[in-house]
Amino acid sequence: MIIAANLKTNLTRKETKKYINEVDAYITSCNSSQEVLVFPAMSSLDTYKSSVVVGAQNAYPTDNGAFTGEIGLTHLNEFDIKTILIGHSERRHILGETQEELVKKFNYFKELGFKIVYCVGEPLEKREAGKDVMMEYISTQYEGIDTQYENLIIAYEPVWAIGTGLTPTLDDIKDIHKELKDKSSAPLLYGGSVKVANAKEVLSIENVDGVLVGSAALCAEDFCKMIEFA
Ligand code: PGA
Repeated sequence: MIIAANLKTNLTRKETKKYINEVDAYITSCNSSQEVLVFPAMSSLDTYKSSVVVGAQNAYPTDNGAFTGEIGLTHLNEFDIKTILIGHSERRHILGETQEELVKKFNYFKELGFKIVYCVGEPLEKREAGKDVMMEYISTQYEGIDTQYENLIIAYEPVWAIGTGLTPTLDDIKDIHKELKDKSSAPLLYGGSVKVANAKEVLSIENVDGVLVGSAALCAEDFCKMIEFA
């Protein structure tokens, strides 16, 4: 199983260090063989422990240059970061990243052999418009993406479930994951309001290969419980 924490714009560098130390101590103590990924804020990218794969929440598809507010490959290389999150709904909807831009980013980091966690998911109105509309919408997020890429992980995260406490039913997750597995055989994570109370059930669904957790992962103890469930 793959258990991933997206810390977003939370936890300072000092807090992240403590967090990763706690997670590392847990993994080491129980000899867990799960794949654990943590995406901290950019200022904590050097918070490295061997049991935890640290990835970038974002980077610009360039080595360096005049791209104010972004970081590039040179900065990731400095900390030996080889994992990146692409297409998260907050980047699509708040930062306005288009599919075209995401494809550029995807191809750039793919060429470099990065592990890419690529996120897809529908907003509420697409879900409410029925399954066909919803699946058609999700399909547009696969456009231009090499679904056969060997270092690809896909995360299905319904936009309306992110940070809201709402989740699809277990049957819905099962159904959508089955369809998404037809598009790509890459490991498929579920994300959107995963917490200690529902992680065990979610992880037991067919075709769920792990979880991508936001708010509930901010507490190291809770995140470790989810690793334990896996
Ligand atoms: P959430 O966020 O767990 O707080 O819903 C998940 C995510 O954005 O990846």
